[in-house]
Amino acid sequence: MVTATVPGQQVKIGPTRLLINNEWVNSISDRRFETINPATGEVICEVAEADAADVDQAVQAARVAFNGEWSKISATRRGELLYKLADLIKQNIDELAHLETLDNGKPLQDSLGDLELVIACYRYYAGWADKVQGKTIPINGPYFCYTRHEPVGVVGQIIPWNFPLLMQAWKLAPALATGNTVVLKTAEQTPLSALRVGELIIEAGFPPGVVNILSGYGPTAGAAIARHKDIDKVAFTGSTEVGHLIMEAAAKSNLKRVTLELGGKSPNIVFADADMDAAIAGSHDAIFFNQGQCCCAGSRLFVEEKCYDEFVAKTVEKAQNRIVGNPFDAKTEQGPQVDKDQFDKVMSYIESGMREGAQMLCGGNQVGEQGFFIAPTVFADVRDDMKIAQEEIFGPVMSIIKFKDLDEVIQRANATMYGLAAAVWTKDITKAHAIANNLRAGTVWVNCYDVFDAAAPFGGFKQSGIGRELGEYGLQQYTEIKTVTIKL
Ligand code: ADP
Repeated sequence: MVTATVPGQQVKIGPTRLLINNEWVNSISDRRFETINPATGEVICEVAEADAADVDQAVQAARVAFNGEWSKISATRRGELLYKLADLIKQNIDELAHLETLDNGKPLQDSLGDLELVIACYRYYAGWADKVQGKTIPINGPYFCYTRHEPVGVVGQIIPWNFPLLMQAWKLAPALATGNTVVLKTAEQTPLSALRVGELIIEAGFPPGVVNILSGYGPTAGAAIARHKDIDKVAFTGSTEVGHLIMEAAAKSNLKRVTLELGGKSPNIVFADADMDAAIAGSHDAIFFNQGQCCCAGSRLFVEEKCYDEFVAKTVEKAQNRIVGNPFDAKTEQGPQVDKDQFDKVMSYIESGMREGAQMLCGGNQVGEQGFFIAPTVFADVRDDMKIAQEEIFGPVMSIIKFKDLDEVIQRANATMYGLAAAVWTKDITKAHAIANNLRAGTVWVNCYDVFDAAAPFGGFKQSGIGRELGEYGLQQYTEIKTVTIKL
């Protein structure tokens, strides 16, 4: 058994090769790449590096499974397999949480929290497997007309590093419930946990070729998926920049279906009539959760003038008390950024905030001497035109912006190319509805933040994405509708 040593314990490392056709294989090139523990900067292990030739093999296996064994399996059986997978993940929850924390850096408590959502997601879609139904349609003339919801086919899925296990679940569960086969590429920063789930997928009894898991880089393996002629759909979660590339590759190859869950710069709006303690705690979590590495982070914090000074003072105090450190320590609230690139990027945004005249009230520095830890950072007096108010930072950096009234804040909150999420804190139901109805965002939270449920759809307006994941709506992205008309 291969393990990694972290303070106080050994973490078991699962498979490090590619999963193709239910077999663990080296890449055709035999190349491997290192995955790093972001808490120390040290190498955990090497992992097989897939490239275009490996994508071809995985797609072939997925195609054979799609046309063959998998197509003959009943919808009920697909549901059973997903339930079984959920059970196996539950049985191995501690091991998976440790592996996730090792590779990603998120606090162990957060990995365990993610895993509860992972299990719920597989179970939710297991329940849907035999409940995806078409309609009978009363068309004119002597005909019987009905629709069938058929799987799209071989699906390519490309996931990011911020929630490796959860993003794997959001992708695999609806695709498998509806009868597709999958080639999934993990993010190069965090390949390990998804491969361990691959073992559990085999153990659950999924036939060969139904789920193939590749570790590798974006411009090589990822791009090979996006342009592949025998992939019927690509589902991508990541940056808006790469989202453009995926869509372009789909357009230039075979017009594969594309769903995208991309970046955000979500407005989080606090009115003076809100429950102030709840708003302060919620706004803190909205930006600092997961080291700020959330596409829906509340990264533009609009605070009403009337409560601005009180809010800022208490918020800074809370940020200063946030516990940053060893992610395996149960008390830790914030771990390291995922890698050196992300660390450098976040630090450069902090510098730009200072240069452009925002007021840095705490943080701004590295914590400790090893790993990629950044102190929770609060900027006040941020203006809409500053870089830190416009671009996705993806780090523990709060930008507080003052506003005067409802109409003004709606207009300013919408002045962005993004539209992933938004939140409002108020006791006034009229204001809450005005925000919920007028913000151009896929999710609006009222007096809460980051409430996720497998049953509630998630996705973006504008350049935050195309399509929805989760819920019943999420199923639509994994089926083709076929109309059958029979002369009577
Ligand atoms: P981030 O900037 O947050 O790392 P990316 O959008 O670059 O986000 O990465 C998200 C996922 O997209 C990762 O799995 C990555 O390997 C993949 N990816 C990156 N570039 C490309 C590309 N050109 N084509 C396909 N996938 C890519």
